[in-house]
Amino acid sequence: MNLHDNLVSELENIVGKDYVLTKKEQIEPYLYDETFVATSIKPSTNCIVVKPINAEQISKIVKLANDSKIPVYPRGGGTGVVAASVPTKDGIIISLERMKKVEIDKDNMMAIVEPGVTLEEFGKIVTSAGFIFPPYPANEQASMGAITVNNSGGARAVKHGVMRHHVKGLEVVLPTGEILNLGGKLIKDNVTSSLIQLIVGTGGILGIVTKTTVKLLPKPEYQLTLLVPFNNRHDAFSAVAPILSSGIEPLSLEYVENKCMDISAKDLGETWYTDIPGPVLLLIQLAGKKDVVFNEAEKASEFCIEHNSLEPRIAEGSEENRVWKIRKNVLAALKPLSSDVLDVTVPPAQMGKLADELDRIASKYNTEIPAYGHAGDGNIHPHILRKDLENCEKIRNEIYEATLSLGGVITGEHGIGKARVKEFYKFVDPKVIELISGIKKLFDPNNILNPNTIVG
Ligand SMILES: Cc1cc2nc3c(=O)[nH]c(=O)nc-3n(C[C@H](O)[C@H](O)[C@H](O)COP(=O)(O)OP(=O)(O)OC[C@H]3O[C@@H](n4cnc5c(N)ncnc54)[C@H](O)[C@@H]3O)c2cc1C
Repeated sequence: MNLHDNLVSELENIVGKDYVLTKKEQIEPYLYDETFVATSIKPSTNCIVVKPINAEQISKIVKLANDSKIPVYPRGGGTGVVAASVPTKDGIIISLERMKKVEIDKDNMMAIVEPGVTLEEFGKIVTSAGFIFPPYPANEQASMGAITVNNSGGARAVKHGVMRHHVKGLEVVLPTGEILNLGGKLIKDNVTSSLIQLIVGTGGILGIVTKTTVKLLPKPEYQLTLLVPFNNRHDAFSAVAPILSSGIEPLSLEYVENKCMDISAKDLGETWYTDIPGPVLLLIQLAGKKDVVFNEAEKASEFCIEHNSLEPRIAEGSEENRVWKIRKNVLAALKPLSSDVLDVTVPPAQMGKLADELDRIASKYNTEIPAYGHAGDGNIHPHILRKDLENCEKIRNEIYEATLSLGGVITGEHGIGKARVKEFYKFVDPKVIELISGIKKLFDPNNILNPNTIVG
């Protein structure tokens, strides 16, 4: 397909000459995301990048593309790990990077945020207004538009849920170019089945999000993190469900391994503790009124010791921030050592069994499977090492099979994108796939929006 006949000038008419990129070196940074080596996908390089400023411009671009059946690829921060934003056909990459407006409504405790705002930028604005925005994927360069359509999660999902629990309204450009407004600053909306909930979590194949209305929460008075060491994975994972059913409500409940934290700390030029008396840890973050937080910390410490933990310690203030900075960097720090990162989720009470399965599979392939993640919601990220690239598919499939046998699913937050389509077809009920494909056709009859992603 020759994309350049007339198309460039038509796009320039819509967004302005400065916001259409056609040169190879300009386009290159928009062709890849953070997908690991085992599942990386070769992009089509015959693409044009456009940078619209509002929904009206996007609508015109999409109408133009739909009329000529040209694929369009929305792009946020490019931090996805399942090649979702990678263009696999000649087409138009719509970069949302210029759409940066944020409106905070303090009275309704809501924000309306445009898709190009990064999580880091949004976090700063929300915090300075006295609120928190709980969804917290570990990459702060992720964009709010992508966090919306990917239903991103992160460490705080154990207490506050994932993105879909916070989205109250959407402005979306459909693949046919119409602009759709859904919901608003509403706590209740029972008019019909929720199209918001359909669009959130379908990975950007049904529409391009141009505004998201999200619920905010008041900033807690105080917070701290307990570092709770254990002698092995099984004990740490097995303590999760009892902690949660004890009445303690952590803001985050993460599982980490000292080795991974050490690699991550070194990657940042920091140091990880050398005196932690066990190879693995739970990080239990507590937030709320100061006296309540300290009471809960005491209760949680005693409770963990009853469940085979070693002596916990507390990180507060800047030390707590340092611990979380190191935790958030683990995926990136392990990437050069890894073939793939998985994102499996099981019911929290099955975590101990999942730990045993990871150990069994690692020993079968005479290797290690480092893991970390959101233990409180049963969502763990096992890494398949770079040295196991040849066996990567077998190891991955065995982990997926073990996960499904424990009542789990193959992804809790990273999604299917383009990198996990084969596994989507292998591990998901064909009827579900048929229904999702039908919904995709209804929204996008010409399959122009992000083709080869999930279905289509
Ligand atoms: C170090 C690291 C840590 C991570 N930690 C987490 C974590 O804790 N939790 C988690 O959930 N994820 C995590 N991720 C994955 C990633 O950050 C999320 O999937 C995030 O939502 C991607 O945002 P992005 O802006 O980079 O999206 P991109 O990679 O640019 O795009 C992702 C998908 O969204 C689509 N898209 C982008 N913007 C729009 C829009 N406005 N409308 C419609 N579709 C759109 C794209 O077409 C693509 O399909 C992590 C990734 C890394 C590299």
